Amino acid sequence: MKPIKKRLLTPGPTMVPERVLEALSRPTLYHRSPEFKEIFLETRKLLKEVMRTEGEPLILTSSGTGAMEAAVANLFEPGDSAVVVVGGKFGQRWEELCRVHGVHPVVVSVEWGKAVDLKDVERALSENPGVKGVLVQICETSTGTVHDVRGIGELLKNFPEALLIADGITAYGVYDIPTDEWGIDVAITGSQKALMTPPGLAVITLNERAVNRLVESPKTYYFNLKKELKQQQKGQTAYTTATNLVVALNEALKMIVEEGVESVARRHSLLAEATRAGVKALGLELLSNSPANGVTAVLSPEGVNGQDVVKVARERYGITIAGGQEHLKGKIFRLSHMGYVDQFDVLTGLEVVELALKELGYDRFNFGDSVKAAMEVFYSSNL
Ligand SMILES: *Cc1c(COP(=O)(O)O)cnc(C)c1O
Repeated sequence: MKPIKKRLLTPGPTMVPERVLEALSRPTLYHRSPEFKEIFLETRKLLKEVMRTEGEPLILTSSGTGAMEAAVANLFEPGDSAVVVVGGKFGQRWEELCRVHGVHPVVVSVEWGKAVDLKDVERALSENPGVKGVLVQICETSTGTVHDVRGIGELLKNFPEALLIADGITAYGVYDIPTDEWGIDVAITGSQKALMTPPGLAVITLNERAVNRLVESPKTYYFNLKKELKQQQKGQTAYTTATNLVVALNEALKMIVEEGVESVARRHSLLAEATRAGVKALGLELLSNSPANGVTAVLSPEGVNGQDVVKVARERYGITIAGGQEHLKGKIFRLSHMGYVDQFDVLTGLEVVELALKELGYDRFNFGDSVKAAMEVFYSSNL
């Protein structure tokens, strides 16, 4: 049977709800029109609600990395130091961005798949007085690991000079994160993950402390956050934003608010729990010791290359899951369950994993084992 439906179970871009696609297809608005200004201001308000912050959300026209770069370029001076948690591909990105912008990275190295040990962060801070910030992922997507950012926020009470800058690109819209309460000064997210919108927009929020730290002339013309802030407070952007995407994001955020941020988080927690139960029922293990609720990284069984699982799923069944990156390539595959995902998507993802594994010669399970385990989780949850 040839696949006639394409399903996206990757950790970004993710599936986009019909309602958001409809919004995306509306006629393009002029970015300086009163009509768009109203939508833009409302979108900023919705972001504050979903991200639970009183800070200033800035919507940038770029993928998530653009917001990460904007953070490094606008909140540090060349020569400053920052503690960087590196436990995967995206932690590495923070480190690389620091180097590009002349910021000295004090690297807290974490084995890929492990959550950072708070003691290591504390040591890095104590041994490097004057550090201006801590750069971390809330969820390290490449390993499906959630870090204890709340704990880092607690630690930073003793290091008031350091801003907490959290990449929450696969955390916002997955978890209910009280950004301000956790002491996150700068939070970052992007449109194409749990926010259920196509790729192309990034978000960076700044609390008052962060606003006061914005440098006067950052070494970037396009991502000048001081300039953006001034414009965005008025419902404008410094340059032409992707107006159709903003309209789509507005719709997606309304969907999250209507479902309720807490309910959205509960749904993700359940989807993740069912996915974990499903793969374990196949005799497989998770990569992470602190598995995230947006994406599950699964160790490929002995003798099976994780990339082949991905290939069979896509080519034979039309279902896109993700492989591993760098040294994890071939060793893992990743099933995403963030954004516009329900229990039936999870069951489909598990089924395709079963089919691919059988085809690739791993057969220490019976068809349906993973689905059964996942269904039991769903059935007993009463959600
Ligand atoms: C997807 C992602 C990013 C941003 O990647 P882009 O391709 O630039 O959107 C950054 N951090 C994490 C944790 C991510 O999952």
